[in-house]
Amino acid sequence: MKKNKGGFGGGLGGPFNLFIFVVVLCGAIMMLTRITDTAREKIEIPYSEYLNLITQDKVKKVEIAGVSVVGQLQDQKRFETVVPENNPEQWEILRKHNVEVQIITGSNLGFWPLFFIGLLLAALLVAWYFLRPSRNAGGGGNIFSMGKSKAKMFLPSTIKDKFTSVAGAHEAKEELKDVVDFLKNPEKYKRLGAKITRGALLVGEPGNGKTLLARAVAGEANCPFFSISGSDFIEVFVGVGASRVRDLFAQARKHAPSIIFIDEIDAVGRQRSAGGFGGGHDEREQTLNQLLTEMDGFETAKDPVIVLAATNRPDVLDKALLRPGRFDRRVEVPYPDLASREQILSLHAKSVHIDVKVDMKKIARGTPGFSGADLANLINEAAIIASKNNQDQVVLEDFEQARDKILLGKEIKTIALTAEDRKLTAFHEAGHALIRLLLPKVMDPLHKVTIVPRGRALGVTHSIPEREKYNSNKEEMLASIKAALGGRIAEEIEFQELSTGAYSDFLAATDIARDMVCRYGMTDALGPVVYSQRQGDFVYSQKTAEKIDNEVKAIIETCYTQAKAMLNQNRDKLTQLSQALLEKETMYARDIYELLGIEPREDHKFTQE
Ligand code: ADP
Ligand code: ZN
Repeated sequence: MKKNKGGFGGGLGGPFNLFIFVVVLCGAIMMLTRITDTAREKIEIPYSEYLNLITQDKVKKVEIAGVSVVGQLQDQKRFETVVPENNPEQWEILRKHNVEVQIITGSNLGFWPLFFIGLLLAALLVAWYFLRPSRNAGGGGNIFSMGKSKAKMFLPSTIKDKFTSVAGAHEAKEELKDVVDFLKNPEKYKRLGAKITRGALLVGEPGNGKTLLARAVAGEANCPFFSISGSDFIEVFVGVGASRVRDLFAQARKHAPSIIFIDEIDAVGRQRSAGGFGGGHDEREQTLNQLLTEMDGFETAKDPVIVLAATNRPDVLDKALLRPGRFDRRVEVPYPDLASREQILSLHAKSVHIDVKVDMKKIARGTPGFSGADLANLINEAAIIASKNNQDQVVLEDFEQARDKILLGKEIKTIALTAEDRKLTAFHEAGHALIRLLLPKVMDPLHKVTIVPRGRALGVTHSIPEREKYNSNKEEMLASIKAALGGRIAEEIEFQELSTGAYSDFLAATDIARDMVCRYGMTDALGPVVYSQRQGDFVYSQKTAEKIDNEVKAIIETCYTQAKAMLNQNRDKLTQLSQALLEKETMYARDIYELLGIEPREDHKFTQE
């Protein structure tokens, strides 16, 4: 087994070793130059003496570099001297006494000193590279352990975070409770032959608590926590990343049951290129392959090692990472909604002296689009403002100032979160949801609706598919088109103007309509013929293309008209739901049914929790 010599945790192991190494190297170089120098000891002589020696024919040869002269006497002794600039006298007598003259241009340094200076510079360069502060932040670069992982290891006794340290994020915590149980009682699952999850992907924008959740899992399971960032794997040297992965997993297995947390997994986990050039890609691919190999290798281990990885770009990840047995669980860590924001604020407020009159709910209301980290920052900024003013307590006014300060820094991100935009989003999502509720027979049951931004989407309406559908009938497909158009229609009804926010909805609607026409033979005009644009399939004529376009347009327009009529007839419900969404930000199906007084379909009741 490989010994771990300070690969983890930095401490004395990392920069310190390197420092000694550089010092010793410099020392050795200085000694060497010394030795070579003494071997070629020269005596310094005055210019007059130099001229004397030449006239006495005692000088064998000289090397002249500008004003400095190094020479050798007939008896092999070496000397050096400095001569006046531009003195023809010297040249005269040198020639007269047949001295061998060599003129050296440029530097007058010999080969060896130059060589050592070069070496010294190279050593300094290497030292600078490994001692750069940014690299050390991850836990100490170490020239003796290039292949060693740069992960930080936290022992259970040092992990203070528990699920109670994470406010809000109920769904994420619920998902991760399973992971905790796997770690604590692997036998319980093995007994029945269940395969334990090996990886979970935490998906969410920065600052929403992905790292915090991962640490909380370790805290709950009382097991060691290895933390590394995806970018720490990537080195200029091919193969280093892969060996770091190997080392990391070896360490984690040794301490199993344990958790590996890889932040920014997209740095290593991006889609592999189809044969790209350049070392950078090679290195990343090797690293990714090693990661996949290590995750596949868990099966045989007795105690589980679970990998939690964080990203805000799940779309760029290599599909191989998401396959069963790898990161097959996905845990969403979205921006907090109103209730969660209040809880996060209250949690962080505990460590600060706050005026009892300050209502956290009110502050939560004024901070849509803030991440957990922003909220923690808000409390801290407010406390700083209060301290500056020598107050005894943090008061509401301080929070308002702090909020404005943070908002300034976030301007671009929250630009979509003006009151107007929130209202538009609320109507848009309410439109989607209401169509679903009005067409219960042919739609998947509604799960939840939210106007909390997620990734690039301003809001989301979720439904839970009842079963894996391989067949949809025409009525279901038309209903899906109507639900997709519902967002834009609601905007139009309420605001009488058109926004750009419905592009992806139109894309979805158009896709369904095109499939109905070109694949499933659901229109009379084109009949049961498959029309495909793909090469190798049936290619159709320009005339047919026009027909297809017309049919697709007709389907969408009919759906649009019908859906608009539905929403117009239920305008009161649309307004009611939008208002409730603006208030609560996230609503579950049960609350929506209750609010609108709609009776859910019998077999849809399972989504009501
Ligand atoms: P991420 O890894 O998603 O970028 P972090 O876990 O690093 O986010 O969160 C940064 C900080 O924000 C945390 O240390 C914590 O103080 C605060 N924070 C974020 N989400 C929450 C939450 N749900 N509850 C309490 N604090 C939170
Ligand atoms: Zn939409």
